[in-house]
Amino acid sequence: MALEDRKDTIEHEFDSALERAWTANRSNTTGAVASYIPELSKVPPDDFGLAIATVSGRLHAVGDTEIPFTIQSVSKAFAFCLALEIAGPALVSSRVGVEPSGDPFNAILFDPVSNRPFNPMVNAGAIAIAGILHEHLGASAFEVMMERFSAAAGRPLGLNEAVYLSEAETGHRNRAIAHLLLANEALAVTADDALDLYFRQCSIAVTASDLAWMGATFANMGTNPNTRETAFDVGSVRSTLAVMFTCGMYDYAGHWAYDVGIPAKSGVSGGIVGVINRQLGIASYAPRVDAKGNSVRGVASFEMLAEDFGLHAFDCTNIGSSFVSSLI
Ligand code: GLN
Repeated sequence: MALEDRKDTIEHEFDSALERAWTANRSNTTGAVASYIPELSKVPPDDFGLAIATVSGRLHAVGDTEIPFTIQSVSKAFAFCLALEIAGPALVSSRVGVEPSGDPFNAILFDPVSNRPFNPMVNAGAIAIAGILHEHLGASAFEVMMERFSAAAGRPLGLNEAVYLSEAETGHRNRAIAHLLLANEALAVTADDALDLYFRQCSIAVTASDLAWMGATFANMGTNPNTRETAFDVGSVRSTLAVMFTCGMYDYAGHWAYDVGIPAKSGVSGGIVGVINRQLGIASYAPRVDAKGNSVRGVASFEMLAEDFGLHAFDCTNIGSSFVSSLI
């Protein structure tokens, strides 16, 4: 097939699959916009965008993929990756485990033997990771984080100050978690320093397109496929994808691995990023979330896309890798 014809097929396959998932889920009003962080409750509930970025540097998008929202827990995957590189895997694993907790993202629970948070994808683990970053980078930790997240997105990202202040004012549960981390010797900085970085990282503003590029950066061994800038080190990406696969969707992680079967991370503001290693970053944004804090339209759309392209890691026909490879 001539290259030009192949490109037409590419547009058609990814764009039409996105369109199908978007159309099928756009009228689903199940779930509710998170309101425990007061500022989050102000977002328009019907925004809905889906995007796929390829390791060959293409972006396919449908719907509200340029509307900014706060990254929230999706940041946990990228912060973990950064901490592995900056502090080294040995120190990171001395503070945070890699076991799924099976409990809600904000659970006040620790591994009963080690006293460590179960994994870096729930709040307790992510606050410990923020502590590690602050311990190693001091006052410049947020700046370094912004640089790396921006490199992954392929454009300079900013902070949503209003959401940051809103969470800093009301995040009492996270404050309790940080103090328990101190008691468990899983923090070597003050609770305030770890929390401030954590609240800021959750308030970084991204679009669904940004998240798709950030996912594609993971898929592309840490280098943004469009700008060619390296954001993360490749060994840390492998470890991060493993933890995203087992723990990325909170207490829905098992179900997600069963149904969708790709490494992913969700956030309570309604974003989800998924990674098809060496092939794609996939992102959704739709702010109504279910009782577990996962975007309702996002989960349903990922299920459709995974089915359409055979993306599940254990798809027995393995059409995923070969079919998608022919398209990117
Ligand atoms: N900033 C939010 C919190 O700590 C992130 C939670 C989430 O996205 N699940 O509560």
